[in-house]
Amino acid sequence: MAGIAVSGGGIAGLAATLAALRAGHDVTLFSGTAAPALQGGVQIAPNGWVALDSLGLGEVARARSNRLHDITVRALDSGSTLIRLPLHEPYASFERRALGEVISDAVDAIGRLDRRAVDITHIHQTESGVTLVTSDGDSHQCDGLIAADGGNGPGRRYVASNGPAGHAGDKLVMRAQVPLADLPAHFALPSSNLWLGRGVHVVHYPIGRMMNLVVTLPARRVAPGWQSRLLGPASPLAILADDAIEWARTPLPVAAAAGCWRRGRVVLAGDAAHSMPPHLAQGAGQGLQDGACLARHLGGEPDLEAAFASYARERAAEVARIVQKADVSGRIMGLSGPAAHLRDLALNVGGPRLMQSWLAEVWSADPSLA
Ligand SMILES: Cc1cc2nc3c(=O)[nH]c(=O)nc-3n(C[C@H](O)[C@H](O)[C@H](O)COP(=O)(O)OP(=O)(O)OC[C@H]3O[C@@H](n4cnc5c(N)ncnc54)[C@H](O)[C@@H]3O)c2cc1C
Repeated sequence: MAGIAVSGGGIAGLAATLAALRAGHDVTLFSGTAAPALQGGVQIAPNGWVALDSLGLGEVARARSNRLHDITVRALDSGSTLIRLPLHEPYASFERRALGEVISDAVDAIGRLDRRAVDITHIHQTESGVTLVTSDGDSHQCDGLIAADGGNGPGRRYVASNGPAGHAGDKLVMRAQVPLADLPAHFALPSSNLWLGRGVHVVHYPIGRMMNLVVTLPARRVAPGWQSRLLGPASPLAILADDAIEWARTPLPVAAAAGCWRRGRVVLAGDAAHSMPPHLAQGAGQGLQDGACLARHLGGEPDLEAAFASYARERAAEVARIVQKADVSGRIMGLSGPAAHLRDLALNVGGPRLMQSWLAEVWSADPSLA
Protein backbone atom coordinates (compact mmCIF):
# COMPACT_ATOMS: atom_id res chain seq x y z
CA MET A 1 0.00 0.00 0.00
CA ALA A 2 1.09 3.52 -0.63
CA GLY A 3 0.86 5.58 2.55
CA ILE A 4 -1.35 8.51 3.46
CA ALA A 5 -2.01 11.56 1.29
CA VAL A 6 -2.76 14.97 2.75
CA SER A 7 -4.28 17.77 0.69
CA GLY A 8 -3.69 21.40 1.73
CA GLY A 9 -0.53 23.16 2.86
CA GLY A 10 -2.17 25.42 5.49
CA ILE A 11 -1.89 25.01 9.26
CA ALA A 12 -4.28 22.03 9.36
CA GLY A 13 -2.66 20.23 6.42
CA LEU A 14 0.79 20.61 7.95
CA ALA A 15 -0.43 19.45 11.38
CA ALA A 16 -2.14 16.42 9.80
CA THR A 17 1.04 15.63 7.86
CA LEU A 18 3.06 15.72 11.08
CA ALA A 19 0.48 13.48 12.79
CA ALA A 20 0.60 10.87 10.03
CA LEU A 21 4.41 10.89 9.88
CA ARG A 22 4.67 10.55 13.65
CA ALA A 23 2.35 7.54 13.47
CA GLY A 24 4.85 5.90 11.10
CA HIS A 25 3.06 6.43 7.76
CA ASP A 26 4.72 7.57 4.56
CA VAL A 27 3.01 10.80 3.51
CA THR A 28 2.46 12.64 0.24
CA LEU A 29 1.44 16.26 0.82
CA PHE A 30 -0.48 17.91 -2.04
CA SER A 31 -0.18 21.56 -1.07
CA GLY A 32 -2.16 23.02 -3.98
CA THR A 33 -1.26 25.74 -6.49
CA ALA A 34 -3.03 28.70 -4.84
CA ALA A 35 -1.01 31.41 -3.10
CA PRO A 36 0.05 30.24 0.37
CA ALA A 37 -2.67 30.46 2.98
CA LEU A 38 0.02 31.44 5.48
CA GLN A 39 -0.29 35.23 5.50
CA GLY A 40 -1.06 37.77 8.22
CA GLY A 41 -1.34 37.12 11.92
CA VAL A 42 -3.08 34.55 14.03
CA GLN A 43 -3.76 34.27 17.76
CA ILE A 44 -3.44 30.86 19.35
CA ALA A 45 -5.56 30.38 22.48
CA PRO A 46 -4.86 27.89 25.32
CA ASN A 47 -6.55 24.94 23.57
CA GLY A 48 -4.33 25.50 20.52
CA TRP A 49 -1.30 25.41 22.82
CA VAL A 50 -2.39 22.09 24.32
CA ALA A 51 -2.42 20.76 20.76
CA LEU A 52 0.98 22.29 19.94
CA ASP A 53 2.43 20.72 23.11
CA SER A 54 0.84 17.39 22.28
CA LEU A 55 2.43 17.53 18.80
CA GLY A 56 5.80 18.21 20.46
CA LEU A 57 5.97 21.75 19.05
CA GLY A 58 5.28 23.82 22.17
CA GLU A 59 8.81 24.90 22.98
CA VAL A 60 9.75 25.97 19.45
CA ALA A 61 6.37 27.63 19.00
CA ARG A 62 6.75 29.65 22.21
CA ALA A 63 10.08 30.97 20.94
CA ARG A 64 8.51 32.10 17.62
CA SER A 65 5.37 33.75 19.07
CA ASN A 66 4.39 36.81 21.12
CA ARG A 67 2.90 35.95 24.50
CA LEU A 68 -0.17 38.16 25.09
CA HIS A 69 -1.09 39.04 28.68
CA ASP A 70 -4.68 40.19 28.46
CA ILE A 71 -7.71 40.64 26.24
CA THR A 72 -9.06 44.17 26.45
CA VAL A 73 -12.49 45.04 25.09
CA ARG A 74 -13.31 48.72 24.52
CA ALA A 75 -16.11 50.79 23.03
CA LEU A 76 -15.01 52.12 19.65
CA ASP A 77 -16.97 55.37 19.92
CA SER A 78 -15.89 56.44 23.42
CA GLY A 79 -12.67 54.46 23.98
CA SER A 80 -13.92 53.36 27.39
CA THR A 81 -12.77 49.97 28.62
CA LEU A 82 -15.60 47.43 28.94
CA ILE A 83 -13.59 44.36 29.99
CA ARG A 84 -9.99 43.57 30.68
CA LEU A 85 -9.43 39.83 30.98
CA PRO A 86 -5.98 38.88 32.29
CA LEU A 87 -4.63 35.79 30.51
CA HIS A 88 -3.13 33.32 32.94
CA GLU A 89 -2.99 30.51 30.44
CA PRO A 90 -0.77 30.52 27.36
CA TYR A 91 -2.15 32.80 24.67
CA ALA A 92 0.06 34.18 21.92
CA SER A 93 0.14 35.77 18.50
CA PHE A 94 2.08 34.44 15.52
CA GLU A 95 2.94 35.39 12.02
CA ARG A 96 0.99 32.64 10.22
CA ARG A 97 4.11 32.00 8.19
CA ALA A 98 6.11 31.43 11.41
CA LEU A 99 3.52 29.00 12.77
CA GLY A 100 3.59 27.16 9.42
CA GLU A 101 7.38 27.00 9.56
CA VAL A 102 7.34 25.57 13.09
CA ILE A 103 5.22 22.64 11.86
CA SER A 104 6.99 22.36 8.51
CA ASP A 105 10.43 22.13 10.14
CA ALA A 106 9.21 19.31 12.39
CA VAL A 107 7.79 17.52 9.33
CA ASP A 108 11.05 17.89 7.39
CA ALA A 109 13.06 16.62 10.35
CA ILE A 110 11.16 13.30 10.20
CA GLY A 111 11.57 12.81 6.43
CA ARG A 112 9.45 10.20 4.57
CA LEU A 113 7.52 13.09 3.03
CA ASP A 114 6.84 13.66 -0.65
CA ARG A 115 5.70 17.28 -1.22
CA ARG A 116 3.83 18.15 -4.40
CA ALA A 117 2.67 21.67 -5.28
CA VAL A 118 -0.29 20.53 -7.38
CA ASP A 119 -4.06 20.57 -6.92
CA ILE A 120 -6.12 17.47 -6.38
CA THR A 121 -8.84 17.49 -9.02
CA HIS A 122 -10.57 14.12 -8.49
CA ILE A 123 -10.94 11.71 -5.60
CA HIS A 124 -11.99 8.13 -6.20
CA GLN A 125 -11.95 5.22 -3.78
CA THR A 126 -12.38 1.48 -3.76
CA GLU A 127 -12.56 -0.78 -0.72
CA SER A 128 -8.80 -1.01 -0.51
CA GLY A 129 -7.54 2.48 -1.27
CA VAL A 130 -7.92 5.96 -2.72
CA THR A 131 -6.92 7.26 -6.15
CA LEU A 132 -6.21 10.97 -6.52
CA VAL A 133 -5.98 12.74 -9.86
CA THR A 134 -3.92 15.91 -9.81
CA SER A 135 -3.84 19.09 -11.89
CA ASP A 136 -0.67 17.95 -13.70
CA GLY A 137 -2.58 14.92 -15.05
CA ASP A 138 -0.92 12.38 -12.73
CA SER A 139 -2.76 9.88 -10.63
CA HIS A 140 -1.67 8.78 -7.18
CA GLN A 141 -2.65 5.72 -5.12
CA CYS A 142 -2.81 5.95 -1.34
CA ASP A 143 -4.25 4.09 1.63
CA GLY A 144 -6.24 7.12 2.74
CA LEU A 145 -6.60 10.88 2.32
CA ILE A 146 -6.69 13.55 5.02
CA ALA A 147 -8.34 16.44 3.21
CA ALA A 148 -7.32 19.77 4.77
CA ASP A 149 -7.86 21.77 1.59
CA GLY A 150 -10.08 24.49 3.06
CA GLY A 151 -13.81 25.13 3.19
CA ASN A 152 -14.23 25.07 -0.59
CA GLY A 153 -11.70 22.40 -1.52
CA PRO A 154 -12.25 19.02 -3.17
CA GLY A 155 -12.14 17.14 0.15
CA ARG A 156 -15.10 19.02 1.55
CA ARG A 157 -17.05 18.56 -1.69
CA TYR A 158 -16.31 14.82 -1.70
CA VAL A 159 -17.09 14.12 1.96
CA ALA A 160 -19.48 16.65 3.46
CA SER A 161 -23.18 16.09 3.06
CA ASN A 162 -23.92 19.82 3.29
CA GLY A 163 -21.66 21.10 0.49
CA PRO A 164 -18.86 23.66 0.52
CA ALA A 165 -18.54 26.30 3.23
CA GLY A 166 -19.30 29.82 2.08
CA HIS A 167 -18.55 33.45 2.83
CA ALA A 168 -20.78 36.14 4.26
CA GLY A 169 -22.26 38.31 1.51
CA ASP A 170 -23.06 41.24 3.77
CA LYS A 171 -19.78 41.54 5.73
CA LEU A 172 -16.12 41.89 4.90
CA VAL A 173 -12.84 41.72 6.75
CA MET A 174 -10.16 44.35 6.06
CA ARG A 175 -6.68 43.35 7.24
CA ALA A 176 -3.44 45.28 7.56
CA GLN A 177 -0.06 45.12 9.25
CA VAL A 178 1.43 48.38 10.49
CA PRO A 179 4.99 48.85 11.83
CA LEU A 180 4.75 49.41 15.59
CA ALA A 181 7.45 52.07 15.20
CA ASP A 182 4.88 54.24 13.34
CA LEU A 183 2.33 54.02 16.17
CA PRO A 184 2.05 55.30 19.76
CA ALA A 185 3.75 52.97 22.24
CA HIS A 186 0.54 51.51 23.71
CA PHE A 187 -0.11 49.61 20.48
CA ALA A 188 2.98 47.51 21.29
CA LEU A 189 1.64 46.35 24.68
CA PRO A 190 1.26 42.55 24.80
CA SER A 191 -2.52 42.69 24.59
CA SER A 192 -5.21 41.34 22.34
CA ASN A 193 -7.50 44.34 21.73
CA LEU A 194 -11.12 44.23 20.65
CA TRP A 195 -12.96 47.49 19.88
CA LEU A 196 -16.73 47.19 19.59
CA GLY A 197 -18.51 49.73 17.41
CA ARG A 198 -21.93 49.97 15.81
CA GLY A 199 -22.04 47.10 13.30
CA VAL A 200 -18.25 47.18 13.17
CA HIS A 201 -15.46 45.75 15.28
CA VAL A 202 -11.70 46.11 15.23
CA VAL A 203 -9.11 43.65 16.54
CA HIS A 204 -5.40 44.39 16.90
CA TYR A 205 -2.43 42.81 18.57
CA PRO A 206 1.34 42.96 18.19
CA ILE A 207 3.40 40.40 16.32
CA GLY A 208 7.12 41.07 16.48
CA ARG A 209 7.69 44.60 15.12
CA MET A 210 4.27 44.83 13.49
CA MET A 211 0.74 45.42 14.65
CA ASN A 212 -1.77 43.01 13.13
CA LEU A 213 -5.06 44.76 12.45
CA VAL A 214 -8.41 43.27 11.47
CA VAL A 215 -11.59 45.29 10.87
CA THR A 216 -14.92 43.50 10.33
CA LEU A 217 -17.63 45.69 8.81
CA PRO A 218 -20.68 45.64 6.54
CA ALA A 219 -19.57 45.15 2.92
CA ARG A 220 -21.62 48.18 1.81
CA ARG A 221 -19.44 50.44 3.98
CA VAL A 222 -16.22 49.44 2.19
CA ALA A 223 -15.98 52.22 -0.41
CA PRO A 224 -13.05 54.62 -1.03
CA GLY A 225 -12.40 56.62 2.15
CA TRP A 226 -14.04 54.00 4.42
CA GLN A 227 -11.19 54.26 6.93
CA SER A 228 -11.68 57.95 7.65
CA ARG A 229 -15.47 57.58 7.77
CA LEU A 230 -15.14 54.72 10.24
CA LEU A 231 -12.23 56.07 12.27
CA GLY A 232 -12.85 59.81 12.12
CA PRO A 233 -10.71 62.42 13.95
CA ALA A 234 -12.66 61.89 17.21
CA SER A 235 -12.11 58.11 17.18
CA PRO A 236 -9.61 56.64 19.64
CA LEU A 237 -8.23 54.71 16.63
CA ALA A 238 -8.08 57.76 14.31
CA ILE A 239 -4.37 57.13 13.64
CA LEU A 240 -5.36 53.96 11.77
CA ALA A 241 -7.28 55.97 9.17
CA ASP A 242 -3.90 56.94 7.66
CA ASP A 243 -4.03 56.59 3.84
CA ALA A 244 -0.55 55.06 3.88
CA ILE A 245 -1.88 51.86 5.47
CA GLU A 246 -2.40 49.15 2.86
CA TRP A 247 -5.48 47.04 3.49
CA ALA A 248 -6.24 43.57 2.20
CA ARG A 249 -9.88 42.77 1.58
CA THR A 250 -10.73 39.29 2.88
CA PRO A 251 -14.04 37.43 2.61
CA LEU A 252 -15.58 36.51 5.96
CA PRO A 253 -16.08 32.75 6.34
CA VAL A 254 -19.49 31.73 7.65
CA ALA A 255 -20.02 29.12 10.35
CA ALA A 256 -20.34 25.84 8.47
CA ALA A 257 -19.24 22.63 10.14
CA ALA A 258 -19.25 19.71 7.74
CA GLY A 259 -22.39 17.58 8.14
CA CYS A 260 -20.18 14.52 7.76
CA TRP A 261 -16.40 14.30 8.35
CA ARG A 262 -15.50 10.97 6.78
CA ARG A 263 -16.30 9.02 3.67
CA GLY A 264 -14.55 5.67 3.84
CA ARG A 265 -10.82 6.35 3.66
CA VAL A 266 -11.15 10.09 3.18
CA VAL A 267 -11.41 12.28 6.26
CA LEU A 268 -11.59 16.06 6.71
CA ALA A 269 -9.43 18.35 8.87
CA GLY A 270 -9.14 22.10 9.44
CA ASP A 271 -11.46 24.54 7.69
CA ALA A 272 -12.54 21.74 5.36
CA ALA A 273 -14.27 20.21 8.38
CA HIS A 274 -15.13 23.30 10.41
CA SER A 275 -15.17 26.60 8.61
CA MET A 276 -16.00 29.38 11.07
CA PRO A 277 -15.85 33.17 11.29
CA PRO A 278 -12.70 34.43 13.04
CA HIS A 279 -14.52 36.08 15.97
CA LEU A 280 -13.28 33.60 18.58
CA ALA A 281 -9.78 33.33 17.07
CA GLN A 282 -10.27 29.56 16.88
CA GLY A 283 -10.03 28.31 13.27
CA ALA A 284 -6.30 27.60 13.18
CA GLY A 285 -6.28 26.41 16.81
CA GLN A 286 -8.99 23.88 15.98
CA GLY A 287 -6.93 22.75 12.98
CA LEU A 288 -4.03 22.11 15.37
CA GLN A 289 -6.37 20.15 17.63
CA ASP A 290 -7.42 18.07 14.63
CA GLY A 291 -3.75 17.29 14.04
CA ALA A 292 -3.14 16.30 17.68
CA CYS A 293 -6.25 14.12 17.68
CA LEU A 294 -5.23 12.46 14.39
CA ALA A 295 -1.77 11.75 15.86
CA ARG A 296 -3.36 9.98 18.79
CA HIS A 297 -5.78 7.84 16.76
CA LEU A 298 -3.35 7.03 13.94
CA GLY A 299 -0.72 6.07 16.52
CA GLY A 300 -3.07 3.85 18.53
CA GLU A 301 -5.11 2.08 15.84
CA PRO A 302 -3.47 -0.04 13.11
CA ASP A 303 -6.58 -0.02 10.91
CA LEU A 304 -6.68 3.27 9.00
CA GLU A 305 -10.44 3.45 8.50
CA ALA A 306 -11.02 2.73 12.19
CA ALA A 307 -8.51 5.44 13.17
CA PHE A 308 -10.19 7.95 10.83
CA ALA A 309 -13.61 6.96 12.21
CA SER A 310 -12.58 7.47 15.86
CA TYR A 311 -10.92 10.79 15.03
CA ALA A 312 -13.95 12.05 13.10
CA ARG A 313 -16.40 11.00 15.82
CA GLU A 314 -14.41 12.70 18.55
CA ARG A 315 -13.62 15.92 16.73
CA ALA A 316 -17.04 16.44 15.11
CA ALA A 317 -18.67 16.38 18.53
CA GLU A 318 -16.05 18.69 20.02
CA VAL A 319 -15.98 21.32 17.26
CA ALA A 320 -19.69 21.76 16.59
CA ARG A 321 -20.15 23.88 19.72
CA ILE A 322 -17.13 26.03 18.92
CA VAL A 323 -18.36 26.79 15.40
CA GLN A 324 -21.71 27.79 16.83
CA LYS A 325 -20.10 30.00 19.46
CA ALA A 326 -17.91 31.72 16.86
CA ASP A 327 -21.07 32.55 14.93
CA VAL A 328 -22.89 33.90 18.00
CA SER A 329 -19.81 35.92 19.03
CA GLY A 330 -19.77 37.55 15.59
CA ARG A 331 -23.45 38.43 15.85
CA ILE A 332 -22.87 40.04 19.26
CA MET A 333 -19.83 41.96 18.00
CA GLY A 334 -21.77 43.10 14.92
CA LEU A 335 -24.75 44.56 16.80
CA SER A 336 -25.73 48.14 16.01
CA GLY A 337 -28.15 50.77 17.34
CA PRO A 338 -29.70 50.36 20.81
CA ALA A 339 -28.77 46.65 20.87
CA ALA A 340 -25.09 47.60 20.69
CA HIS A 341 -25.58 50.02 23.55
CA LEU A 342 -27.19 47.29 25.68
CA ARG A 343 -24.39 44.89 24.73
CA ASP A 344 -21.76 47.36 25.95
CA LEU A 345 -23.65 47.87 29.21
CA ALA A 346 -23.94 44.11 29.77
CA LEU A 347 -20.25 43.56 29.07
CA ASN A 348 -19.32 46.35 31.44
CA VAL A 349 -21.48 44.90 34.20
CA GLY A 350 -20.54 41.24 33.51
CA GLY A 351 -16.84 42.09 33.27
CA PRO A 352 -14.04 39.54 33.02
CA ARG A 353 -16.16 36.81 34.67
CA LEU A 354 -18.74 36.96 31.90
CA MET A 355 -16.06 36.73 29.25
CA GLN A 356 -14.16 33.98 31.05
CA SER A 357 -17.30 31.86 31.33
CA TRP A 358 -18.02 32.37 27.60
CA LEU A 359 -14.49 31.31 26.68
CA ALA A 360 -13.98 28.52 29.24
CA GLU A 361 -15.70 25.88 27.12
CA VAL A 362 -13.90 27.05 23.99
CA TRP A 363 -10.48 26.96 25.55
CA SER A 364 -10.88 23.67 27.39
CA ALA A 365 -9.18 21.33 24.97
CA ASP A 366 -9.80 17.62 24.89
CA PRO A 367 -8.00 16.62 28.13
CA SER A 368 -6.60 13.52 26.46
CA LEU A 369 -4.47 15.80 24.27
CA ALA A 370 -2.62 17.20 27.26
C1 LIG B 1 -9.45 37.56 9.24
C2 LIG B 1 -9.18 36.24 9.86
C3 LIG B 1 -8.56 36.16 11.08
C4 LIG B 1 -8.34 34.93 11.69
N1 LIG B 1 -7.74 34.90 12.92
C5 LIG B 1 -7.55 33.70 13.52
C6 LIG B 1 -6.94 33.66 14.81
O1 LIG B 1 -6.56 34.69 15.38
N2 LIG B 1 -6.78 32.43 15.40
C7 LIG B 1 -7.18 31.27 14.79
O2 LIG B 1 -7.00 30.19 15.37
N3 LIG B 1 -7.76 31.30 13.55
C8 LIG B 1 -7.94 32.47 12.91
N4 LIG B 1 -8.51 32.52 11.68
C9 LIG B 1 -8.91 31.25 11.03
C10 LIG B 1 -7.71 30.58 10.39
O3 LIG B 1 -7.03 31.48 9.57
C11 LIG B 1 -8.17 29.39 9.57
O4 LIG B 1 -9.08 28.62 10.31
C12 LIG B 1 -7.00 28.52 9.20
O5 LIG B 1 -6.00 29.25 8.54
C13 LIG B 1 -7.47 27.39 8.31
O6 LIG B 1 -6.38 26.57 8.02
P1 LIG B 1 -6.58 25.32 7.06
O7 LIG B 1 -5.23 24.72 6.92
O8 LIG B 1 -7.69 24.48 7.52
O9 LIG B 1 -7.10 25.92 5.67
P2 LIG B 1 -6.40 26.95 4.66
O10 LIG B 1 -5.45 27.82 5.37
O11 LIG B 1 -7.51 27.56 3.88
O12 LIG B 1 -5.54 26.02 3.71
C14 LIG B 1 -6.14 25.24 2.73
C15 LIG B 1 -5.04 24.74 1.80
O13 LIG B 1 -5.62 23.88 0.83
C16 LIG B 1 -5.01 24.13 -0.43
N5 LIG B 1 -5.90 23.67 -1.47
C17 LIG B 1 -7.06 24.24 -1.91
N6 LIG B 1 -7.56 23.51 -2.93
C18 LIG B 1 -6.71 22.46 -3.12
C19 LIG B 1 -6.69 21.36 -4.02
N7 LIG B 1 -7.64 21.21 -4.98
N8 LIG B 1 -5.68 20.47 -3.92
C20 LIG B 1 -4.71 20.61 -2.98
N9 LIG B 1 -4.67 21.64 -2.11
C21 LIG B 1 -5.67 22.55 -2.19
C22 LIG B 1 -4.78 25.64 -0.40
O14 LIG B 1 -3.82 26.03 -1.35
C23 LIG B 1 -4.29 25.83 1.03
O15 LIG B 1 -2.91 25.57 1.11
C24 LIG B 1 -8.74 33.73 11.04
C25 LIG B 1 -9.34 33.79 9.78
C26 LIG B 1 -9.57 35.02 9.19
C27 LIG B 1 -10.23 35.07 7.85
